[in-house]
Amino acid sequence: MTAAPGRLRVPFLDLVGLHDELRTELDEAALRVLHSDRVLMGPELESFEQSWAAAVGAGFAVGVGSGLDALSLGLRALGVGEGDEVLVPSHTFVATWLAVVHVGAVPVPVDVLSAAGAWDADALEDAVTPSTRAVVPVHLYGHPVDLDAVLRVARRHDLVVLDDAAQAHGARIDGRPVGGLTHATAWSFYPGKNLGAFGDGGAVTTSDPGTAHRLRSLRNYGSSEKYRHDEIGWNSRLDEVQAALLAVKLRRLPEHNARRDAVARRYDEGLAGLELVLPERVQGTDPVWHLYVVRSPHRDRLREHLAACGVETLVHYPVPPHRQRAFAGTALADAHLPMADRLAREVLSLPMGPTLRREEQDAVIQAVQTFRP
Ligand SMILES: *Cc1c(COP(=O)(O)O)cnc(C)c1O
Repeated sequence: MTAAPGRLRVPFLDLVGLHDELRTELDEAALRVLHSDRVLMGPELESFEQSWAAAVGAGFAVGVGSGLDALSLGLRALGVGEGDEVLVPSHTFVATWLAVVHVGAVPVPVDVLSAAGAWDADALEDAVTPSTRAVVPVHLYGHPVDLDAVLRVARRHDLVVLDDAAQAHGARIDGRPVGGLTHATAWSFYPGKNLGAFGDGGAVTTSDPGTAHRLRSLRNYGSSEKYRHDEIGWNSRLDEVQAALLAVKLRRLPEHNARRDAVARRYDEGLAGLELVLPERVQGTDPVWHLYVVRSPHRDRLREHLAACGVETLVHYPVPPHRQRAFAGTALADAHLPMADRLAREVLSLPMGPTLRREEQDAVIQAVQTFRP
């Protein structure tokens, strides 16, 4: 659907505008690497890893090739493998589940309570069997999950916890940053994430030196000494160009997240009282608003109306993992996950980002207000 001519068009996310604010520093960082003789596993990576570990309160950060690899290598480094069961949320980006399958383990979905991926601790506990080895909570849309509840269940059953923070760069729980609160945390630097590279990238943070050492080997062909291979590894490394560019963007992450927070607050005010479920703010947590997701029983018609008003929206995600063809023919396809099914029908992500201008946001709010189901 095309917007009426002359109307303000509101893009979902304006990455070029964001990068324009940092143009000189980004250009300088990229050229520094292009003119050097180190493009992999060099000083830029080492420096970014130290900065990222410090930013999220972890002892170590290990850069890898993508968020999916961060999850897979993270699980493998924590000893998860063939035949193990791993508890995952029913509502998440499919990569959370794919990582479990990639290490030979079985994803066991636990239905969520809300769009932001909160779990009922009893439901989580009920899903534990003698084969359960790990839990992967997801801080979806930038909303931190209650890790205390997850860690309590994990301790009781001797499980490892790898949290998926691909959408939660800078999020905090009781003032403590996500990234150093579990056995390990997986990050994505996919370009659209709150801290995004100029291509694929990811990292795992942990405060356990043994886990960090294992991750450094796994990302590099299972080798910690050249041409000696101790285990079956991957080739999954964060390259020097991406590390240098990420270091530039990391310096501005707190400011960018604060600007996202201001956008979220204006949405909260402007959309209050409408026939919509707005995102919940959980006491004691600082979300980072990777996405601002509303729920409506008339989602598809609302989305069409917004498109006609020139407002670009997205759906995260229209098909839940257990309904994906990739899992057809497995027991997962028969899973009873009513909340995941419902969320897939109702969620709608509104334009969100540090560069969303006031008049653009007003246009979004006005467009939602004029929707008649
Ligand atoms: C983006 C994302 C991933 C995967 O990250 P990639 O870098 O795209 O591989 C995993 N989990 C969640 C929740 C994500 O949003």
